[in-house]
Amino acid sequence: MSARHRPTIARWREETSQGEAWCYQARCSCGVEMDEHYARGRAVRDRDEHLAEVAPPPAERCRAPRAHGSRSWDRCPLCVDQLALPGLEAWGAVG
Ligand SMILES: [Zn+2]
Ligand SMILES: [Zn+2]
Repeated sequence: MSARHRPTIARWREETSQGEAWCYQARCSCGVEMDEHYARGRAVRDRDEHLAEVAPPPAERCRAPRAHGSRSWDRCPLCVDQLALPGLEAWGAVG
């Protein structure tokens, strides 16, 4: 599975018993659709939780998303290869 995750927060107006309200829903390019909320913050949290779920172990995540055309939660082959280079192991020993 190499689906990329490019979530967005969808927003639309909805009729409620209290009148019109904004609805928010986190959706991801992988096909996941989270719950609908009336508060944007909750949709944002859904999105963050989804990304936390799908993200690979920290060592495999991209550490240079801009340079590699990826996102910080992507598994990045370029960065994984870099980890294999000798001399970088100390990196993991910190902390
Ligand atoms: Zn996703
Ligand atoms: Zn990378």
